[in-house]
Amino acid sequence: MSPMKCPNCGSTHTVRIGVTVDESSTPAYECQDCGHRFSK
Ligand SMILES: [Zn+2]
Repeated sequence: MSPMKCPNCGSTHTVRIGVTVDESSTPAYECQDCGHRFSK
């Protein structure tokens, strides 16, 4: 399982922080470099 790429800065230094609270409950990730949170 490869790390998620940050859509904000392009870093792959990301960690899974849980799931989003919206209806889809998709995994959420946080970039350790810029702090951007995203899900995919
Ligand atoms: Zn980033």
